[in-house]
Order: sequence, then C-alpha cells, then structure tokens
Amino acid sequence: MIKFGNTQLWNFQQSILAKFGRPPMDCQCKLCEPEQTFTCEGCQKERAYCFGQDDEHFELCDDCWYDLPEAIKDPTIENQGEPV
Ligand SMILES: [Zn+2]
Ligand SMILES: [Zn+2]
Repeated sequence: MIKFGNTQLWNFQQSILAKFGRPPMDCQCKLCEPEQTFTCEGCQKERAYCFGQDDEHFELCDDCWYDLPEAIKDPTIENQGEPV
C-alpha cells in the first residue's frame, strides 16, 4: 500500500471522482460539474467550487475560512454588528 498524507489522499480521491464524471466530494449544492474544483491555498486540497470559491474569499475553502479570525473574515463586523 502506498501511504498518502491526508491532503494527497483527498486530492487523489477527488481526481478519481472527476475521471468518472462524479461531482466533487465536498460539493454541497449538487450542481458542481465533475471538474469544477479549485486548490485551496490554506489546506492545498482540491475543493468543490461551491465549497469556498463562490464567496469573496475564493482562494480559501470553507473549512479554512472558518478557521480565520473574525476580523479577517469581515473587517466591518465591529461597525455593523449584524451577522449576514
Ligand atoms: Zn457544488
Ligand atoms: Zn482549505
């Protein structure tokens, strides 16, 4: 057995899905095309388009985005104080 790191394994599985014309693993909308993925700059994983690239922080997946400090997510959060 070849040992993969988590990221390598993830990307490998993602590429297999794409080969077979299946949607990406973390697709939430069920509408992503098989190869509608991007490489997250945070975790280096191939992510579904809807798992991060459909918002303003398009270089990060939603997992990495949630790990960011509030101030980075939304610099205006102190002024408005209302969740979107
Ligand atoms: Zn999707
Ligand atoms: Zn990520």
